[in-house]
Amino acid sequence: MTANCTLAIPGIGRRGIPLVVSAPSGGGKTTLCRKLMADLSGVEFSVSHTTRALRGREQDGVDYHFVDDVEFSKLVAEDAFLEWAQVHGQRYGTHQREADSRLPLGLDVLFDIDIQGGRQIAARIPDTVLVFVLPPDMATLEMRLRNRKSDSDDVIARRLVAARAEMEAASFYTHFIVNDDLERAHEELRSILIAERLRRLDHHALVNHVLTRSAP
Ligand code: ADP
Ligand code: 5GP
Repeated sequence: MTANCTLAIPGIGRRGIPLVVSAPSGGGKTTLCRKLMADLSGVEFSVSHTTRALRGREQDGVDYHFVDDVEFSKLVAEDAFLEWAQVHGQRYGTHQREADSRLPLGLDVLFDIDIQGGRQIAARIPDTVLVFVLPPDMATLEMRLRNRKSDSDDVIARRLVAARAEMEAASFYTHFIVNDDLERAHEELRSILIAERLRRLDHHALVNHVLTRSAP
C-alpha cells in the first residue's frame, strides 16, 4: 500500500483521474486492474452494466450490473450512460454515476472497457488517461484464452480475430503496456497512475500543507 506517499496527504485537493484500461480479450486487463487496486489506495473500479449473462464466479453489482435488453435500452433512452457500446454481440455501458460519485472527491476511477468506450470517455472527459494492454504475441494470447477455460473454441476464434482489429485501432491511446511478465506489466500500470497523480497535485494546497504542518 502507499499510505505514506505524497499522494496520500489528505486535503491536497485534486480531481480524481479517469483511468481507462483496455485490451483484447485475454490480454490481461482484469488481472492487472485487480492487482492495481490491491496495491494502491484511492482508486476504485467502475462497475459497468451489461446485457451478457453472468459467468462463473461473477457477482451482480460487483463485477457487473447484469441487466436485460429492456433495462439497458431504458438507461440509454434516459442518457444515463457516460459511454456504451456493443462488444462481442452484447451491450456494455458505464453509468454516469460511476464517474460522478468519485472523480469530484479525488478518487481515481478505473474503467475496464473496450476501445469504443475509451474513445467516448476521452471525448467527454478530456483528461482521461487511456492505457492499452497488448499480449506479447498472438500464440500467447490464444494460450491464455484457452487456459482461462471460460470460453468455447468458437468464441476464442472470434476473439482472436477481434484482437487484431482492436490492437490496430488503439493508436489514440496515450499509454501502451505489453503484458508478457505480469509483475513488470503491473509495475508499469502502477507507475502510470502514480505519475498522473503527481502531475495533478494542487501546488497551492501542497505548499500550504508543507508550510503549516507540525513536525511528526
Ligand atoms: P482480460 O481481462 O483482458 O480478458 P484476463 O485478465 O482474464 O484478461 O487474463 C486472461 C488470462 O491470462 C487469465 O487466465 C490470466 O490469469 C492470464 N494472464 C494474464 N496476464 C498474464 C501474464 N502476464 N502471464 C501469464 N498469464 C497471464
Ligand atoms: P467481458 O464480457 O469479457 O467481461 O468483457 C468483454 C469486453 O467488454 C471487454 O473488452 C471489456 O473491457 C468490455 N467492457 C466491459 N464493460 C464495458 C463498458 O462499460 N463499456 C464498454 N464500452 N466496454 C466494456
